[in-house]
Amino acid sequence: MIVVLFGPPGSGKGTQAQRVASLLEVPHVATGDMLRAEVARGSALGREAEPIMASGKLVPDDLIVRIIESRLQEPDAARGALLDGFPRTLAQADALDAMLQRRAWRVDVVVALRVSDDELRRRVLRRGEIEGRADDNAEAIEQRLRTYREQTAPVLDHYRARQTRIAEVDGVGEIDAVTARIAEALSADGAVVQAS
Ligand code: AMP
Repeated sequence: MIVVLFGPPGSGKGTQAQRVASLLEVPHVATGDMLRAEVARGSALGREAEPIMASGKLVPDDLIVRIIESRLQEPDAARGALLDGFPRTLAQADALDAMLQRRAWRVDVVVALRVSDDELRRRVLRRGEIEGRADDNAEAIEQRLRTYREQTAPVLDHYRARQTRIAEVDGVGEIDAVTARIAEALSADGAVVQAS
């Protein structure tokens, strides 16, 4: 099963994705985490991605698509994956559809987290103070919100047009409460293996 966890920067995607992936018993595949690991390793890919990420813009589609393609071929993804931070553009969504179609798979459900822009700004700035992420600052967050609105939000319309199930979930509240909302939305699909 392929689940896409969708939401703006600061919506809690990463936190929720880890929890939901373990409920679904599929790997958590987060392109942002994979890119940050490349930056930390100082690889050629990491050196290319680092300044783009720091500015709040998106790294090139072909690079991300190659990363995802090879990740989904790993044995732990034989039953599917929980995708976090991908697809983020229409081109990535098209590439994912084609990739999945070759395996007779598709995106089963998109979970879309809803959080207001003001709350997103507050959360990202707080995370910046705690974790020191290079793109969690006042300037980059405005660019990341713009990028989200212009390039990423249309991906939801792509799935609407394809009649993929979209579960809209309120992303504000205690972490456990949000996880419970997501689990409930997914159990309507029979997706959640073990509710906790
Ligand atoms: P995230 O941790 O998901 O917020 O991602 C951090 C940054 O990594 C983004 O602002 C982008 O610069 C880059 N990134 C992550 N995922 C993608 C993607 N699917 N397409 C393009 N850039 C991405």
